[in-house]
Amino acid sequence: MEMTFIAALVYVAASAGQATTDAEPFRNAARHGAVYILETPVATPGDLGRLSRAGFDVDHYGGGGTVRIYATGEERDRLLTLGYRVEEIGRQPDPPQYSGMTKGLGVYHSYDALTAELEVYAAAHPAIARLTSLGQSVQGRELWAMLITDIPDIEEDEPEFKYIATMHGDEPVGTEMCLYLIDRLLGDYGVDGRITELVDSTAIWIVPLMNPDGLVNGTRYNAEGYDLNRNFPAYPDDFDGTYFQGAPVAIEGRPAEIRHVMQWTLDHSFVLSANFHGGAVVVNYPYDEEPGIPSGSDALSPDDDLFKAVSLEYSIHNLPMYNSLVFTDGISNGSAWYSIDGGMQDWNYRYAGCDEVTIELSLSKRPSASRLADYWDDNEESMLAYIESMHTGVRGIVTGPEGEPVWAEVRVDGNAQPAYTDPDVGDYHRLLLPGEYTLTFDAEGYLGWIETGVVVEAGAAARIDIVLSIEGGEGEGEGEGEGEGEGEGEGEGEGCNASAGESSGQTTRLGDTTVLAAVGLFLIRGRRRPRLQLDL
Ligand SMILES: [Zn+2]
Repeated sequence: MEMTFIAALVYVAASAGQATTDAEPFRNAARHGAVYILETPVATPGDLGRLSRAGFDVDHYGGGGTVRIYATGEERDRLLTLGYRVEEIGRQPDPPQYSGMTKGLGVYHSYDALTAELEVYAAAHPAIARLTSLGQSVQGRELWAMLITDIPDIEEDEPEFKYIATMHGDEPVGTEMCLYLIDRLLGDYGVDGRITELVDSTAIWIVPLMNPDGLVNGTRYNAEGYDLNRNFPAYPDDFDGTYFQGAPVAIEGRPAEIRHVMQWTLDHSFVLSANFHGGAVVVNYPYDEEPGIPSGSDALSPDDDLFKAVSLEYSIHNLPMYNSLVFTDGISNGSAWYSIDGGMQDWNYRYAGCDEVTIELSLSKRPSASRLADYWDDNEESMLAYIESMHTGVRGIVTGPEGEPVWAEVRVDGNAQPAYTDPDVGDYHRLLLPGEYTLTFDAEGYLGWIETGVVVEAGAAARIDIVLSIEGGEGEGEGEGEGEGEGEGEGEGEGCNASAGESSGQTTRLGDTTVLAAVGLFLIRGRRRPRLQLDL
């Protein structure tokens, strides 16, 4: 396994060209008062794109050429004026009616019942569970987050995972699936070897209810009338690089629930995540939207094959999903289904470096509670297998010469999408399909490192630990690679004083970053992840 030093790098935010000019007046608008759930036939996918760009809240595109739209009265009238035939299939607000029996599994929980339930779970499992709030909704309800892992108060060399449910308040099945999952993970820890292994090796975060006000009020929207899956920063209008690269966060002015989730996401180093919805049965994966790609066409991300694989890992265990008559194998590229902008999954992937998919759980947004146990049967194995898929690819720890964890960018040759270490521990987890790869590690203030011949096999992730040397230091940094857990490490201090001359052939391949030949500009010993100091 060849290891080579390269010169240090300066990060340049990816140049995305000028922002697009499609600033539409109604895009991501707040909706107040009665909202009509409408279905209207559309002739072509192009129609769908036009509706979306005109500011309509397109929710789903069905197989029969029918699109579902959430519209105010004014928007409904505008649709009619534009010549669309619309059928009203529902109206909001439509608060759920609870039977009073809202404890235990297999029932819909009110916000208060959910809160009580989560507190009971956390209190009963103090060794592996922590219940925290990401912050409060517009109307002052908590955005609960349950962390389940073996040593919950300490960051370990473990990938961080998240499930988020019900950002649309009228799609509560995901909330209940999250409760089932919490029950399974906590109840079977120490009993079921598979669950114990998963909890021991993973930091699993579960946010069962991202939009508590919407749930309580019986609407898709938050209490200010915003669609939370249309108001995340959108590429390239709101950002054109990654957090690591220092691209602006663009958090100000966004709905409170979005700001809390953004803050929390950026405070952690999530590797993989999914968010749950209802109204269809499918896993859809990035991109939801790519400039220049029309709605209805594939918008391929650099990790398209990987996204297909992890999406299949979910769908293949869910027979109604996998046997879908609408979506081949129960998965779809987001844009190929219908494009949205301001969605959560694209922001996670493009900006925060987290591989996120969107999972639609049920054709009906709020099916009978008596069916929840069936939905859990369909989704239990999928939810577990999807988390487990995060333990594939390549992983390791990036430290400096004194063992300090480093916030580093990890690039895969031939793939434009970077991954990042967690600066608290220095661990990275780059999901990759089996193959042979070249990885590049860059961190401000350190000499970069190229690791060639990284072999990824199916199953457990290969491990490559890296020790970077300080740029402008004594030039004796160490690279320490281990192949596939075989314990064939190179041994510290041996063969590590690679001469810079060796690297010239490699540095020329880094076309998208700027290689600084002059060292010594940075004596910062690593860059810490900035903590946002926003008034939330
Ligand atoms: Zn939804």
